[in-house]
Amino acid sequence: MSAPAADPVAIARDLLRCRSVTPDEGGALRYLEGVLKQAGFTVDCVSFSEPGTPDIENLYARIGLTGPHLMLAGHTDVVPPGDERAWSHAPFSGDVADGVLYGRGAVDMKGGIACAVAAALDHLAKTGGKPKGSISFLITGDEESVAVNGTVKLLKWAAERGEKFDHCILAEPSNVATLGDAIKIGRRGSVNGTLVVTGRQGHVAYPQRAINPISGLVRLIGALKAEPLDSGSAHFEPSNLEFTSVDVGNPTDNLIPGEARARFNIRYNDLHTQSSLKTLIESRAGKAAQDSVHWHITWESSNADVFVTKPGPFTDMVAGAIAEVTGRKPDLSTTGGTSDARFIKDYCPVVEFGLVGQTMHQVDERTPVADLVALTAIYRKVLQKYFG
Ligand SMILES: [Zn+2]
Repeated sequence: MSAPAADPVAIARDLLRCRSVTPDEGGALRYLEGVLKQAGFTVDCVSFSEPGTPDIENLYARIGLTGPHLMLAGHTDVVPPGDERAWSHAPFSGDVADGVLYGRGAVDMKGGIACAVAAALDHLAKTGGKPKGSISFLITGDEESVAVNGTVKLLKWAAERGEKFDHCILAEPSNVATLGDAIKIGRRGSVNGTLVVTGRQGHVAYPQRAINPISGLVRLIGALKAEPLDSGSAHFEPSNLEFTSVDVGNPTDNLIPGEARARFNIRYNDLHTQSSLKTLIESRAGKAAQDSVHWHITWESSNADVFVTKPGPFTDMVAGAIAEVTGRKPDLSTTGGTSDARFIKDYCPVVEFGLVGQTMHQVDERTPVADLVALTAIYRKVLQKYFG
C-alpha cells in the first residue's frame, strides 16, 4: 500500500493564510517546521540580526546524512498586498476559485515552496522515509526587502556547521508565460550610482558669472546613454545603464544652481565585473566631460554580482524532468531582477525553477491549481532522477 500523495494546494493555501509581509514571519515558517518535522526532517529555526534592520527568522531543515545533497530553497516573506479592496479575493485568504489559487505569494513564492515540500514528502513516502542522500530546505523570511538577515547569513551559518551542498533548486517563479518555458541559470549583476556635476551658483541674468551644472549633466547623461555597454554574451542580454532620477532641487527661478545630480542603475552581464564596469563608465564620463565639466560618481555598494550556472548534466536533468511532465523544452534564461541565487551560487551550482511569474507583486497574484500539480510532478521527477 502506498501513502497518499501530499497535497501541494493544501500546503500552499495554509502558507498563503500567513501574513508574512517582510519582516514578519506571520506563522509561515512555524507551519513549515511542523510539516517537515513530521516527515522526519531535522529542523532548525534561526534568527539573525543586524543593526538598523529588523530581526528575521529563517528555517533550515535536512533529512539524510550522506551525499549527494540537494538543497531546495525559497522565501516565505511576501511584498505588501497594497490596497486589499482592489483584490477580487482577499490577499491572505488562500481562496481557490474556478481552478485558480489567489493570494499574495501564490507565485512568489509560497506556491513554489508548497510544491517542493509536497514533492519531497512524496519522494520520502516512496523511499521508506529516507532519501538516497540528503534533501534540505533553506527557507528565509528576508528576500523581498534588504535581504541582509536571510539567505546570505543562513548559508554561512549552515557552512559553519559543516553543511555541504551539491546542488540547489530555488523555487522562484522562473517561467514567463507557461509552466515549463524557462529555467533561470543565472542572473545579471546590479549596481547603483549617482552622477554629480558641480558648477558655480549665480544670478540667472548673469550666466557669464556662473557655471550651470545642468548643461554638464545633460552632456554626460547623453554620453553615457550614447553607446551600448556591450552586445550581450552567450547566456546574457546586453548590459544596460538606465537613469532613474535627475535632481537639481532648485525652488528659485532666478538662480543658476551650484550642483545637479542623476541617479542610475546598471544591470550587467558576465562580460563585466563591478570594478571593470566602474572603470568603463568613469572613462566614458571623463571623455565627454573633458576639462569643462566638473563631475564625480558615487557608487553604492552592491551584493548583486552577475553569475551563471553553465549548462551541463544538472541543468539537463532539470530540463529533462520539465520536458517529461510538460512536453516543453525550457529556455535557459538569465533575465529579470536579482534573487537569492546570487548568494547560493557561492556554495553550489544553482538553478531557479518555479511557477509562472506573470502576476508576481500584482493585485490578484494567482496561479492555476493545475500548475501547482504539474510543478509538484516535475520536482518529484527531479528528486527521482537526482537520487537515482
Ligand atoms: Zn521571490
